[in-house]
Amino acid sequence: MPDRPYIVGNWKMNGTRTMLAEARAIDRAAQRHPGVQVALAPPFTMIGALREAVTVLGVGGQDCHANVKGAHTGDVSAAMLADIGADFVILGHSERRKDHGETDVQVRAKADAALAAGIAVIVCVGETLADRDAGRAEKVVSGQVDGSIPLGDIAADAVAGGKVAVAYEPVWAIGTGRVAAVEDVVAMHAAVRARLIAAYGDAGAKVRILYGGSVNAENAAGLLSAEGVGGALVGGASLTADAFLPIVAAARPVED
Ligand code: PEP
Repeated sequence: MPDRPYIVGNWKMNGTRTMLAEARAIDRAAQRHPGVQVALAPPFTMIGALREAVTVLGVGGQDCHANVKGAHTGDVSAAMLADIGADFVILGHSERRKDHGETDVQVRAKADAALAAGIAVIVCVGETLADRDAGRAEKVVSGQVDGSIPLGDIAADAVAGGKVAVAYEPVWAIGTGRVAAVEDVVAMHAAVRARLIAAYGDAGAKVRILYGGSVNAENAAGLLSAEGVGGALVGGASLTADAFLPIVAAARPVED
């Protein structure tokens, strides 16, 4: 059976326990869409409660430290995420790269640590508007893929097991209401695919590549049916069931 489309909500720094009601509503609806894989990444503080509150939803973190433990005040390791019930972690989001100066090397180290802890990874890449205007978007994104994705034996097993995904998120489309043109998304996903095959061989052809950047109920069907788009990473429109569920419903389910 081919991989299911993967729809992931990134709650960013939003969410207190009152939002568990939204997560439960999303979970109930996800049960009616078994051909779509649905997940939420709440803030660290809500991962445990959300894990307990839902049944079919994947639950993930939005970052992890590359070390297992130690003197890193305020940080959380991948082993800790796994311990509290997380299935996956989003890494290298452009907000982490910008706000915390995260580099490709650091993102790769975190991805390796997450896989070693037994959780899946979604590695984010994407160009700035300046990159796109200068005609270097594909070069920048390809370089981020080459530098950020996990490598080595653990990664090979994880890729084979469907535990590695890449999210292409043009920085200028995140939280702005501006969406990349479908033909540009298709072209960039093909460029990312080529780098994944270069890194992982044939197995790279099966790694899911998600699109992220102002996905909503209106544009989801067009984006999710585009060539090479394996799902969506959704920020603002994942905060309520009303906004998120039409995106889940727009994903073309996998048939048995
Ligand atoms: C994101 O946070 O990854 C994202 C794509 O946000 P938004 O959907 O709000 O643009």
